[in-house]
Amino acid sequence: MSRFLDPRLEKTEAYVPGEQPRKMQYIKLNTNESPYPPSPAVIAAINGDEAKKLRLYSDPESKELKFAAAKTYGVSEKNVYFANGSDDILNFAFAAYGKNGAVFPEISYGFYPVFAELYGIEAEKIPLKSDFSINASDYFGKNKMTVIANPNAPTGLCLPLSDIESIVKNNPESVVVIDEAYIDFGGESCLPLINKYDNLLVVRTFSKSRSMAGARLGFAFGDEALISDLEKIKYSTNPYNINRLTQAAGKAAFSENGYYEENCKKIIATREKTAKALCDLGFEVLDSKANFIFAKHKKIGGGEFYEKLKEKGVLIRHFSDPKISDFNRITVGSDEEMEIFISKTKEILGGAL
Ligand code: PMP
Repeated sequence: MSRFLDPRLEKTEAYVPGEQPRKMQYIKLNTNESPYPPSPAVIAAINGDEAKKLRLYSDPESKELKFAAAKTYGVSEKNVYFANGSDDILNFAFAAYGKNGAVFPEISYGFYPVFAELYGIEAEKIPLKSDFSINASDYFGKNKMTVIANPNAPTGLCLPLSDIESIVKNNPESVVVIDEAYIDFGGESCLPLINKYDNLLVVRTFSKSRSMAGARLGFAFGDEALISDLEKIKYSTNPYNINRLTQAAGKAAFSENGYYEENCKKIIATREKTAKALCDLGFEVLDSKANFIFAKHKKIGGGEFYEKLKEKGVLIRHFSDPKISDFNRITVGSDEEMEIFISKTKEILGGAL
């Protein structure tokens, strides 16, 4: 830290991303990426003529992306916003709507408290129930910016649409952000509610179900006025925040929705198979509707299991927060990767029993 840093930022504890090992000596099940490559049209778009146009700025309005998203999801282009990853959208949402404070679950995506601190927003963290589920009525009438990941991370548990609607309805004076990063793996999206409520912002990403974490592309749906707020912040910071190759890749991805739907089905099937194998080994496994599994075993601590798996070449995610430190979050990889994960787990438990 330099002596010039704004004292306001001195205390900010930055978000710590999952490990990104340079050499792929690991089976990487730690940052919820897709085990499947982007669709053929995406590869073709990146390797095609677009690269030759890199001397030109990208489209600040992301018009073609908006058109493709509107067609895919049956909404108006005016209700869609695109950004450099969904983290960018969350960042803007905190900047725009956090003035009266923010509310989010105590155990959720680790970036929410970081954004709150960055903008000096008072954050109310609401505990989960003892089964790690979210109690919707805890969020009623707060009238502060509310952020809920649905499915939640790192638990994978999903709230029904009726609960999401009741939270939105019971906070008419503030924006409710529903972070649907993992919605394509079995949850029910609240997207249809954007036409009914002007305070709902639904945030999505290309990083998980659309196999493009490295391209950085996120999008959001909401009332036209909310979208124009986000556009305003973008034009006040970095109008060209989505590069040409990513825009071309995103558009190509929308042309092959079926490919991604098939991948999601495969990931869901692998998740269920892996969850069952873990249960058979004595793990407590939460009912995930995401592309990861949250599990603990009474014979081995979360940290120890993480370390032992790492020694055996499998990387998963462990969180040091004592409320969840017995657990680990395991990304659902390919069937082959999960078979190796289960066989290494058996070796470790053999030693621990
Ligand atoms: N929301 C949640 C709940 C996440 O887990 C992640 C991934 N770390 C993000 C948002 C951000 O995703 P991205 O910026 O890659 O779109």
